[in-house]
Amino acid sequence: DENLMLNVHITPYNNDQRLVIIRNITEKHRLERVRQDFVANVSHELRTPLTVIRGYLEMLDPELYPELKSVEKPLSMMRHQALNMGRLVDDLLLLSRLDAKDLQSSTSQQIEVNSMLESICTEAKALSGDKGHTIEFHSQSNKKLVGSEKQIRSAFSNLVFNAVRYTQKGGRIDIYWKETEQNLVLSVSDNGPGIKQEHIPRLTERFYRVDPGRSREQGGTGLGLAIVKHVLELHDGYLKVESTVGKGSTFSCVFRLHP
Ligand code: ADP
Repeated sequence: DENLMLNVHITPYNNDQRLVIIRNITEKHRLERVRQDFVANVSHELRTPLTVIRGYLEMLDPELYPELKSVEKPLSMMRHQALNMGRLVDDLLLLSRLDAKDLQSSTSQQIEVNSMLESICTEAKALSGDKGHTIEFHSQSNKKLVGSEKQIRSAFSNLVFNAVRYTQKGGRIDIYWKETEQNLVLSVSDNGPGIKQEHIPRLTERFYRVDPGRSREQGGTGLGLAIVKHVLELHDGYLKVESTVGKGSTFSCVFRLHP
């Protein structure tokens, strides 16, 4: 049976014996696939009607049609929510594409991390707008990454934009690209509200939010860190989160260097 999937586990048993545990995970794997396909299809199917709704909302412009002045506020709320829904659908699609990938099938481009981070930094300043954050990028390595440029960009910008969205007015955000003996590291530090220790292990779960109201208000989809975790796994890396309530947070992407 070409669909058969077995999980084999060998452990020491007594002195000179080994215990071999073989589990049939075919059904578990099949159900996981069904779930992934379902999410991918739903997100894809939602895209078309949403595009139509957004198109018409664009046309209903009170500047062009004075009779719409009285419904200006509801229209603007509808536009805002349609934008949020668009983000959600995009994130869901991205996640299900990442789900379907494995290490071998991901693209291997040479990624110029420094110029990517400079441009993310510029976008972050625009996002900060009149909140007046100080956002600085410190380049301490010229090393490139190998992988998918699009995925890495989405992971890095998720971390930087989160720092902007969750840090109070006038806060400070520092972005570093550096190398150690074994790793290449991107770190994003902010002096925002920080996150209680008990939440940290759960941050990369889909739709896990420390403060759901605040996240939605900031236009968050609750999927950002799940995307980051997935992308890093596909690039032989991992996410590290350090945070102190009242002081701030540091999110780091750690990539293993291969000799
Ligand atoms: P969201 O779309 O809600 O931002 P994420 O997966 O990106 O979803 O983040 C999960 C949660 O982690 C957020 O809802 C927020 O509570 C918390 N969080 C992420 N980044 C920060 C940060 N820099 N400072 C404080 N809290 C953060």
